[in-house]
Amino acid sequence: METLESLLSIDLNYIVIGLIALFFTLEQILNPQFPFQRRGYHFWNSFLFQVVFLIGNVFWAIVFVFCIEWLNQNEIGLFYMIDLPIWLKLVLGVMILDFATYWFHRFSHLSPLLWRFHRVHHSDTTMDSSTYFRGHPMEVLFWFGSAPILMSALFGLDLFIIGVYVLILTPFLVLEHSNLRFPAWLDKTAGLIFTTPNLHKIHHDQDQYYTDSNFSDIFILWDRIFGTFKYKPVDQVKFGLEEFDEPKKQTFWYLLRAPFLTIERKVK
Ligand SMILES: [Zn+2]
Ligand SMILES: [Zn+2]
Repeated sequence: METLESLLSIDLNYIVIGLIALFFTLEQILNPQFPFQRRGYHFWNSFLFQVVFLIGNVFWAIVFVFCIEWLNQNEIGLFYMIDLPIWLKLVLGVMILDFATYWFHRFSHLSPLLWRFHRVHHSDTTMDSSTYFRGHPMEVLFWFGSAPILMSALFGLDLFIIGVYVLILTPFLVLEHSNLRFPAWLDKTAGLIFTTPNLHKIHHDQDQYYTDSNFSDIFILWDRIFGTFKYKPVDQVKFGLEEFDEPKKQTFWYLLRAPFLTIERKVK
């Protein structure tokens, strides 16, 4: 079985590059939902976050894998106490991780400290598949600590289950940010259970009423169950955060420093 370490450091990178190349091209060929603004410039400012992430990954992937393997070797967590078929552990494991990610994301909007990092992703005033890259590298570290490691300690999730979750999550995230037209009927069918691109774009609206909604990554079910599901037609969404609207606040260098700067939230 392949380790998550190699998956995160090599294979997943190929998958991400392939997905972004595919959707970046489709966005160019097909009729985009939103007009592009300085597309190449936007791409590089987002892509530089991936470069920093990959450099940090050399170190933290080793630490992360060590933590999970230690928990597994000591048979810590619920799945080591009950006998379940592997497929059920896999399905439950993916749902548990997505459930934990929903709460981590929701908490990132509530906690002033976490919001400082999470607002980097929300600051994007234009959107295409490369917005997938736009997230502060420190935020990923917080997520690994609070979702996969904590859930592994509680439920006994192993590297295989976490690897499968990341493999399902990645295409969802690329698709959710892609600048393509998706019909409203998709939101009314698949969107009953899964997070569709339109539903995630509502989460990127400048109006905080909508920013604080649709937190789920794979299963929109969590928003429906916990009362944070909201809907508006995607063509009425205005992306970004008012306090980041100026072009000089859309650069990689500014956004990398943004968590450490005092920037007041402008709420509508
Ligand atoms: Zn968010
Ligand atoms: Zn997003």
